[in-house]
Amino acid sequence: MKKFKVFITRNIPGPAIHLLKKYFTVKLYPKDNIIPRQQLLAGIKWCDALLCLLTDKIDQEAIDINPNLKVISNYAVGYNNIDVAYATKKGIPVCNTPSDIISDAVAEHTFAFIMALAKRLHEDEEYVREHKWKSWAPKLLLGTMVKDKTLGIIGLGRIGAGVVQRAACLGMKVIYYDVHRNKDFEHKFKAQYFPLKSILKTADFVSLHVPLLPSTRHLIGKKELRLMKPTAYLINTSRGRVVDEKALILALQKKWIRGAGLDVYETEPNVNHQLTALHSVVLTPHTASATMEARLQMSKDAGENIVAILKGKKTAKIVNPEIYSK
Ligand code: NAD
Repeated sequence: MKKFKVFITRNIPGPAIHLLKKYFTVKLYPKDNIIPRQQLLAGIKWCDALLCLLTDKIDQEAIDINPNLKVISNYAVGYNNIDVAYATKKGIPVCNTPSDIISDAVAEHTFAFIMALAKRLHEDEEYVREHKWKSWAPKLLLGTMVKDKTLGIIGLGRIGAGVVQRAACLGMKVIYYDVHRNKDFEHKFKAQYFPLKSILKTADFVSLHVPLLPSTRHLIGKKELRLMKPTAYLINTSRGRVVDEKALILALQKKWIRGAGLDVYETEPNVNHQLTALHSVVLTPHTASATMEARLQMSKDAGENIVAILKGKKTAKIVNPEIYSK
């Protein structure tokens, strides 16, 4: 039987490489940086199965370079780096790595933002570290409680739901908006469904958990930021382009909102200098899922997706299952 060839675009942690080597011939881009385009294309041309990262652009050119490509397995939950519509047209399964562990990791990171912003941890830390602290003072760096505040979730999927479940422990009221209403969830977790505009007008913390799609690009722009309360915070752990970053910078500079917690950016890893100059933001480098536990699970899932497809089986972690009904 032919031994299939798998190309992995970066030296990822966890069990994937070992697992794939058990069954297939594996080639790995060995360096710890984003693979240069020409090497990516050469790797795709060589392989039967591609294990890629969200930093690899898998567009029409990349897909067309190998008419025999059998699977694209993304080491990520989001897959906006892949032209899924084109892969589907070519009959290529595209897989991703959602799991409870990743959803939990991102939900925890969202709460790290909520707590840091509310308690002004980033400002506190800088104050102490830079030796600005001279004495205890009753009005020093006053923050806000999260108890009894309203959390507005936009996108009640795996991660959004994880955030809601944690909010209850902190005594927060939860409202949400999604293109699909989930009445069972509302009932179970005492979450109330509202239109997007009402969420923006009402919530003290607005947290984004939608995928990046044509319909969610700049879902939050100037008009939406104008609706938010001047005491409200925006949190984005989804994808940078869900928010119009220029409008957000303006909103923060003009104090239309009080602050933001951002893990993702429009032009990452190049973060706008006007954003980094602001003290009202907490910024992380797309590390919301960066826990050891989550990375190992992503590796396992990305490897198992390839094993399943190359062995002629189906995997649940497929983003274009419609290829099977063609
Ligand atoms: P999911 O598919 O389970 O949930 C997404 C939800 O968004 C769904 O309920 C969907 O109905 C809803 N939605 C889609 N379009 C919408 C719209 N226009 N308005 C309102 N709701 C809409 O996905 P998930 O696992 O919860 O992940 C969400 C996103 O988080 C991913 O697509 C990915 O881009 C991002 N993510 C980021 C990190 C990170 O490290 N920062 C890690 C994992 C995932």
